[in-house]
Amino acid sequence: MRKAAADQTTEGRVNIGFIGLGNMGAPMARNLAAAGHAVTGFDPAGVSVEGVLPVASATEAAAGREVVVTMLPNGAILRAVYAEIIPAAGAGTVLVDCSTVDVDSARAVAAEAAAAGLAAIDAPVSGGTVGAAAGTLTFMAGGPADAFEAIRPLLEVMGSRAVLCGPAGAGQAAKICNNMILGISMLGVCEAFALAGKLGLDAQALYDVVSTSSGACWSVTTYCPVPGVGPKSPSDNDYRPGFAADLMLKDLRLAQDAAASADAATPLGAHAAALYEAFVAGEGRGRDFSAVLPWLAGRRHGDG
Ligand code: NAD
Repeated sequence: MRKAAADQTTEGRVNIGFIGLGNMGAPMARNLAAAGHAVTGFDPAGVSVEGVLPVASATEAAAGREVVVTMLPNGAILRAVYAEIIPAAGAGTVLVDCSTVDVDSARAVAAEAAAAGLAAIDAPVSGGTVGAAAGTLTFMAGGPADAFEAIRPLLEVMGSRAVLCGPAGAGQAAKICNNMILGISMLGVCEAFALAGKLGLDAQALYDVVSTSSGACWSVTTYCPVPGVGPKSPSDNDYRPGFAADLMLKDLRLAQDAAASADAATPLGAHAAALYEAFVAGEGRGRDFSAVLPWLAGRRHGDG
């Protein structure tokens, strides 16, 4: 990362381009600006973000910046944006992609950046829009260690934890492996509570047993899908997201793409993707991913 860029006026102030100012990107860019960094932003939707200087193109957002952060919907858009910004970025610029995309795209854009002499880090996040607004995201990163250390202070503005998981693509790999566990475990927890209901077993009683037994997991203890049971979670808010079922489906599909690409057996991951696909095609669209519980509770043995 270049020191003393032309418009860097204060010690530690970094000249940042931010591309993709959606539900996640806007609060992340706002937090960087609020921390005193010079942030220039681009989004084709023409979003305006407090403290962020808007520009008319990704190229303009990237030119002359020390760090360029992207927060985009998918790998195809990421590849298109990187094709524009790599030629525009000056030597020493660090490119940081915080989107959730397929591992192959993350590796491809990092290789293109490296061929142009630029360092690239994939740094997807967990923590959702609440974490983005509060600056408490967790970043899981892949890329060169020196570039990661250079941008660590910026990740610590946008989040509370940043872990370097390995070379390019390792952050995306960690993200989809984690979320595949989450999707599978939430389905298992919802199945158990739906079964308990049909067996006449009280949900609070099951929670009291499972939360301190071998079935305990985050989907029970932190994000219990039963309204009124466990700590506050989206189930207590009529299953408004939270973490939308559509986004869980996106991540489960990415895990399946990666499994196919790496020839890895993920039978439960595949089944979880199929179940979320059916859920999102019906009553699950726009709801939290834990709303699988009422959906399953309304189904019968043999429904699959
Ligand atoms: P979003 O749809 O709200 O924002 C994406 C933004 O990218 C939009 O504002 C869109 O206009 C912009 N965009 C599209 N094409 C562009 C282009 N060519 N150049 C520049 N900008 C472009 O999505 P989001 O919820 O902010 O999610 C962004 C990423 O973060 C996704 O990859 C998502 O999977 C991931 N993520 C989201 C959450 C969440 O809870 N929302 C949590 C973790 C990770």
